[in-house]
Amino acid sequence: MANSMDYDVIIVGAGNGGLTCANEIASNGYRVLLLDKHNLPGGVASSFVRGRFEYEASLHELCDLGTEEHPGKVKLLLDRLGVSEPFENEMTLFRTVVKGENGYDVSVKAGREDFVRSMLEICPESGKSLEKLLKLLDSTAKALEYNERTHGKPSKLVMLLKYSGFLISASHSLDDVLLSLGFEDKARSILETYWSYLGVPANEINAFHYLEMMFGYINGGAAVPRNRSYAISLALADRALDKGCEIRLDSEVTEFILDGDRICGVKIASGEEFRAREVVSNIIPHNVANMLPSDKVRDRDKKLLNARRFGISFLCIYIGLDVSAEELGMNYTTFISDSLFSDRNTLRRQFPDVYVVNCLNAVVDDATPPGTSTLFITVPVYPQYFMEDVTAGNYRAFKNAAAEHYIDDCERTLGVSIREHIEEISVTTPVTFARYFNAPEGTAYGYELSHWDGLMARMLDKINKFDFDGLTFCGGHGETGDGFGVTYLSGIEAAEKVVRSLRFKDRLTKIRNITRIARKDADKSAANVSGKPAADASGKPAAKASGKMKGA
Ligand SMILES: Cc1cc2nc3c(=O)[nH]c(=O)nc-3n(C[C@H](O)[C@H](O)[C@H](O)COP(=O)(O)OP(=O)(O)OC[C@H]3O[C@@H](n4cnc5c(N)ncnc54)[C@H](O)[C@@H]3O)c2cc1C
Repeated sequence: MANSMDYDVIIVGAGNGGLTCANEIASNGYRVLLLDKHNLPGGVASSFVRGRFEYEASLHELCDLGTEEHPGKVKLLLDRLGVSEPFENEMTLFRTVVKGENGYDVSVKAGREDFVRSMLEICPESGKSLEKLLKLLDSTAKALEYNERTHGKPSKLVMLLKYSGFLISASHSLDDVLLSLGFEDKARSILETYWSYLGVPANEINAFHYLEMMFGYINGGAAVPRNRSYAISLALADRALDKGCEIRLDSEVTEFILDGDRICGVKIASGEEFRAREVVSNIIPHNVANMLPSDKVRDRDKKLLNARRFGISFLCIYIGLDVSAEELGMNYTTFISDSLFSDRNTLRRQFPDVYVVNCLNAVVDDATPPGTSTLFITVPVYPQYFMEDVTAGNYRAFKNAAAEHYIDDCERTLGVSIREHIEEISVTTPVTFARYFNAPEGTAYGYELSHWDGLMARMLDKINKFDFDGLTFCGGHGETGDGFGVTYLSGIEAAEKVVRSLRFKDRLTKIRNITRIARKDADKSAANVSGKPAADASGKPAAKASGKMKGA
């Protein structure tokens, strides 16, 4: 058993949030222990190898990396932490194919001017609406900057007078906002393409949340790491080790240890216990609550957790092909859908008709051996519909049927030949996320950003937060939702809060020590003057007082 208070901070979970948090706290000179149940750091920011292919496990594209001339928040953050992994910037945002009579097959470009140009080529009547959209995107970005400058306490009047666009986009759905900007159906449908990345349909997702992501993609393109997201996870783990952080893998936390009502440590599956002054959780509050004695979790928090809906999960099909991306005729990101617009019912089917196909080699040409390529098909699913009839006995057959369904659909829709070139194939389902990451109901996206539990509600309303003394959260289940950029940043925010708290406590201890010493000195001088034994802090006479002044 480890000594009590071995560490200043214990971080549970080495996903994106846990890794950046560990880096930031260790940079401040505090002793950090980072624990993960998995045998690799990174959480879903990972890769895996089958045959001669190394697949990206999760990342399609990173938002807000920016460009060399205009680095975004994520680039600045990675640079500061000493992570210099190379990226490619894909400047075709996406190709999107909607099947059927009113459907389309179009590509949209990144870069402000190219974005407008490509949209105008597809929807010539949308010029005025695009102008208004760009203004709204700018105003939203400026409002965010102002919010950051004021440390999350903006003046309501300034917001109202200067950033009214932000207030509108923050309080309406994406659908409502695009309609109010005057977009016709086709343009609106194209602009809503990214909804499956956030897991909430356009008639429900908060416009501000969506537009912020879109702004990042339009400005900087879609950033793709040359060596998969796992290389970034490894670099973050290495930098944390350089800064003195201890990392223990294969260490599943099974219990949070309490000192009264405050979390002061954790117990891992092997039975070892670790204590620290602060604990950070990169794991979802549901799992934390289930590891705490029920009577210690406040009723308010139980209600919040029960009311929250888990975010979507995914069916992922990873395919290694014995043909190059060029021969295959694939670009990097292609969205495929059956209808112009989607709503919640779109995902209430076993095999939803909306998915995205990525061909890594279209951006990183040497990602696999010459003459080969990989495809990554991602289907957003609600596990309760997707897995409805699945049992342990038919799981394998179910996975095969799901893979066949989407490969057939992709071949038919894009006119490409996949089956005859398959060399390796792997399929993951919500069960995979549940098994590897302890994700309840296999959620890949933490909690759904629904109306009452959306981004704004989480940021502005403390009631929408699970609170426990001694514990700070980071990760995709937090205030700002899921995504690589936001989870990296969430780790920094959590670290800053923890460091503030540690510094405050350190200062308090220092002041107490100084006061104690000063009081002792004062008592000593008083004793010297009066000749009486000095009292200690408790008021009792000091044991070794001589009773006589020196030299008297
Ligand atoms: C298929 C897929 C595609 C995605 N595509 C994109 C994309 O294109 N762009 C984008 O920006 N984002 C994307 N995302 C989202 C992005 O990957 C996540 O938001 C981000 O990686 C989550 O980071 P996190 O900090 O929440 O940690 P997580 O990855 O959730 O890691 C949590 C860690 O905690 C560990 N853990 C759990 N329980 C315990 C325990 N009891 N004890 C110890 N350790 C524990 C787990 O092993 C894991 O390592 C995608 C996600 C998925 C699943």
